[in-house]
Amino acid sequence: MIPATSFSAKRVALFGLGGSGIATAHALMAGGAEVLAWDDNPDSVAKAASEGIATGDLRAAEWAGFAAFVLSPGVPLTHPKPHWTVELARGAGVEVIGDVELFCRERNRQAAQAPFIAITGTNGKSTTTALTAHILKSAGRDTQMGGNIGRAVMTLDPPEPRRHYVVECSSYQIDLAPSINPTAGVLLNLTPDHLDRHGTMQHYASIKERLVAGSDTAIVGVDDPYCAQIADRLESVGKKVVRISKRLPLTDGYFAAGTDLMEAVDGRYSRIAFLEGIGSLRGQHNAQNALAAVAACLRVGLELGEIQKGLESFPGLAHRMEQVARKGKVLFVNDSKATNADAAAPALSSFGRIYWIAGGLPKEGGIEPLRGFFPRVAKAYLIGEAAPAFAATLGEAVPYEISGTLAAAVEHAAQDAANDAGDEAVVLLSPACASFDQFRNFEVRGEAFRQAVAAIGKVDLIGGAR
Ligand code: ADP
Repeated sequence: MIPATSFSAKRVALFGLGGSGIATAHALMAGGAEVLAWDDNPDSVAKAASEGIATGDLRAAEWAGFAAFVLSPGVPLTHPKPHWTVELARGAGVEVIGDVELFCRERNRQAAQAPFIAITGTNGKSTTTALTAHILKSAGRDTQMGGNIGRAVMTLDPPEPRRHYVVECSSYQIDLAPSINPTAGVLLNLTPDHLDRHGTMQHYASIKERLVAGSDTAIVGVDDPYCAQIADRLESVGKKVVRISKRLPLTDGYFAAGTDLMEAVDGRYSRIAFLEGIGSLRGQHNAQNALAAVAACLRVGLELGEIQKGLESFPGLAHRMEQVARKGKVLFVNDSKATNADAAAPALSSFGRIYWIAGGLPKEGGIEPLRGFFPRVAKAYLIGEAAPAFAATLGEAVPYEISGTLAAAVEHAAQDAANDAGDEAVVLLSPACASFDQFRNFEVRGEAFRQAVAAIGKVDLIGGAR
């Protein structure tokens, strides 16, 4: 745990007592702060109280006495409207911050030179964070990974000069971290998402921009117009900007040419790493993630040989194009995290003969945006509430069955794929839907896929529980 000493002997209000909220309260208390915590959910309040955290309804609190208000990133700061606690804090002139801000202040106090890589973007954050941390660890660096992935940031080990932090940041966390100052800040990409919580695309983009604007070196994916503008703007005010592109040869920066990762200096190119044969980093989207990880690792002094080794041994993240098993020529891929059409596109573009399991709780737009990939789909197996609508979209273009359950879909898809005429066939769960109609969350759905695959018998399982 990182004791939050910047509020020693001060009173701090805290709202949101989920896992990270409780961890943050403990970190503040360990640093000597007097915390008053609250949540709209009485069970969360009871849990915090049972762990020795002082709780009390913040409506009745004396706000003028608080040095800060720490808000959980899950609670609205601005849209659709500020949470009532935010109104009370602002009314009393109390600053509103989150756990990433506490981390930054602690690093500044204890070991400002500790390498800190912060990663954001609309898609690919978790993959890039896990990959960067993996490369650093496999090169023998003391590495802590957390934030929006895995451990809450204040539960990591305390800053030391040679300890590396790799922190995934959601836009909500950036919004609550006004002084975020990473050694290397990564902005992967920007597409409209979560606009219910951010109002407009401009507002969403401006929050994400803050992470790179505050960094020593800004690593920016320039494949979309929002990020390209941000890179130009930061450079025009003198910031050190490293551009990355998954498709364009750049004059300066890092770009992908197929599976080769290239460095460009003044228009001269050289190959610095490659992804050929690395199953966990298949697809153009992963070239973007890998370029960002490589750029960040170079920034903190890794050598190319160490980086290539780390890329090659990356196990991948569960539920993101995760190769779970093989049976003869059939590969089974779990992409349960693909909860909308945009997120399903990379997997559909990465394979040839696809036996595609899709469906669940439908999202707006359905699978119409994926029509361009339909020729790759040998047959679709539709599950959950979305099945009839997806069937209507597939129409005559793709053979399909309405399998109903995931178990039935896996069984039928495995049989059909085994009889495919080609050399390799893929049974792919990439649902393009939320899971909540049949599963508690996308992780449970992905685990159910793995179990259904194991139940087929005579399969070689790849990897294990991570
Ligand atoms: P995030 O943490 O931002 O949600 P993940 O790394 O968990 O991102 O990946 C989620 C899904 O998004 C993956 O299943 C993949 O299909 C897609 N994806 C991953 N990286 C990228 C990228 N760089 N660009 C576009 N889509 C991506």
